Amino acid sequence: QLPVQKPEEVIKKYMEEVGTIPDELKKTELHCVILGLHDMHGASVMSPSGYDSPEGGSQTLQPSTVGKFTKCGHTLHMLCMLAMYNNGNKDGSLQCPSCKTIYGEKTGTQPKGKMEIYSIPQSLPGHPDCGTIQIVYNIPPGIQGTEHPNPGQPYTCRGFPRFCFLPDNDKGRKVLELLKVAWTRRLIFTVGTSNTTGEPDTVVWNEIHHKTEMLSNVSGHGYPDPNYLDNVLAELAAQGVTEDCLRR
Ligand code: NAD
Ligand code: ZN
Repeated sequence: QLPVQKPEEVIKKYMEEVGTIPDELKKTELHCVILGLHDMHGASVMSPSGYDSPEGGSQTLQPSTVGKFTKCGHTLHMLCMLAMYNNGNKDGSLQCPSCKTIYGEKTGTQPKGKMEIYSIPQSLPGHPDCGTIQIVYNIPPGIQGTEHPNPGQPYTCRGFPRFCFLPDNDKGRKVLELLKVAWTRRLIFTVGTSNTTGEPDTVVWNEIHHKTEMLSNVSGHGYPDPNYLDNVLAELAAQGVTEDCLRR
């Protein structure tokens, strides 16, 4: 996915310049949150060179320019936010590093593959009054793109197809619809190092938990789990996937 907007335009779309920092604020412990590298005032205001990428420079933003996010109101150096944006997958969205509010539509780096949905009559432990939705994810091995840790290198795919289960009730079906949105936005998997196996350059789950055991719970990723649907709704929301996405 190529960026349609220039990085600097994305920053300016969601942050407004607040200019110089008022004197009262200068006395407080006001820091740019990006790794705490820069003090927002005084002599330590430097360009965020640690993040420089070929396109990381800016014609119109000064190193000391402070920006304020339009919705959450948090402030940080606009160049720091630009550097952070350039370090990511440049999808036209921003996430406030302080409170994680998402501006625009966050997308991920999930490789190409298939998501399929099936219906199983049998009930899940803890959900005796309904059947089961089965999701099957299949991702074949491939070559990493520029959005991945080692572009040009292959990635492996362990344990695919991966089978996942949801109760076939109202809440479960809502989670399913949101998972479809997350899949389209490439948020379900990513390429990285597996926590479980330590293998690098492999396709791994990405912060949205799935139940991969239907009738047992050997891995801890099975049923019963009375909090699962609420937990996964919160994880989806943290990626910007909420019920609002279904109304549009
Ligand atoms: P990982 O180990 O890097 O962990 C990423 C996230 O996935 C963590 O939040 C973790 O809690 C969660 N996770 C770990 N094991 C899980 C499981 N079995 N089911 C659901 N969630 C799980 O992620 P990973 O490397 O993608 O997966 C962990 C291991 O589980 C891998 O070795 C994979 O092969 C295996 N797995 C196998 C199947 C299967 O159907 N055979 C399905 C899912 C996962
Ligand atoms: Zn914020």
